[in-house]
Amino acid sequence: MTTPYYVGAHVSAAGGVQNAPLNAAAIGANAFALFTKNQRRWVAKPLATADIDAFKRNCEQHGFSPRQILPHDSYLINLGHPEPDARAKSLDAFIDEMQRCQQLGLCYLNLHPGSHLRQIDEDQCLSLIAESINRALEQTDGVTAVLENTAGQGSNLGYTFAQLAQIIDQVEDKSRVGVCIDTCHLFAAGYDLRSREDCQQAFAEFGRLVGFDYLCGMHLNDSKGGHGSRLDRHHSLGQGEIGWTVFEYLMQDDRFRGVPLILETIDETLWADEIRQLRAFAGAAVQEAGQ
Ligand SMILES: [Zn+2]
Ligand SMILES: [Zn+2]
Repeated sequence: MTTPYYVGAHVSAAGGVQNAPLNAAAIGANAFALFTKNQRRWVAKPLATADIDAFKRNCEQHGFSPRQILPHDSYLINLGHPEPDARAKSLDAFIDEMQRCQQLGLCYLNLHPGSHLRQIDEDQCLSLIAESINRALEQTDGVTAVLENTAGQGSNLGYTFAQLAQIIDQVEDKSRVGVCIDTCHLFAAGYDLRSREDCQQAFAEFGRLVGFDYLCGMHLNDSKGGHGSRLDRHHSLGQGEIGWTVFEYLMQDDRFRGVPLILETIDETLWADEIRQLRAFAGAAVQEAGQ
């Protein structure tokens, strides 16, 4: 049996983490992303045992295995912060988030690599990020740190595949580091995705510089910003500057099977339709192959 495509969205966990799998099931998803705490605050109270149990039960009932779930960390965390005290605060918060994932039985934690705040150079910052990840992996178990490519807005790093590779090179436990590619960020960072040839070229470069073994998920977003704009502004699929081609491409390429493909598009009332459309692309490919 071929590995399925896992398609879903970053759903709300309002009222408790246990609601996320229910919200995902309601839109016909077989993957989802969530925040395990308020993403705009530093501290959160520990997860209650009853909520953890309910989360696991709801995931099981709706067929979500850990490999179909891509939790996202807080927006405040900067593992490459140039100032040691601020970096230590971020590392503590990141370790707490890794531990929350571990408690929930999850295997990934998606993070934005970090930013140099124009105080240190890019190489130094990338090394600090890797060092922070090393410390976090030492103190946790079973959870992979999943680096997300950025749009390169402000001083955010991780906007090229080479930068992601540079971080991974310096992570000691390669079995617990991975990558999530966000299509909006990729396009805004200067990788064209508007034609099939563009997609082939961009993902060939990913394969060459990082490698598909490290791919742990994708964020499927169209972009309000233009090609190379360095703007992190998502749009609904097909309504932005990228268009449908890349999403059709992904759903017809086996390298993107078996990892969570997560919508972070701006209109959540469209998520069920977007998921249906993505699945239709995969179905169309199967029919063509069978003819
Ligand atoms: Zn994203
Ligand atoms: Zn974004």
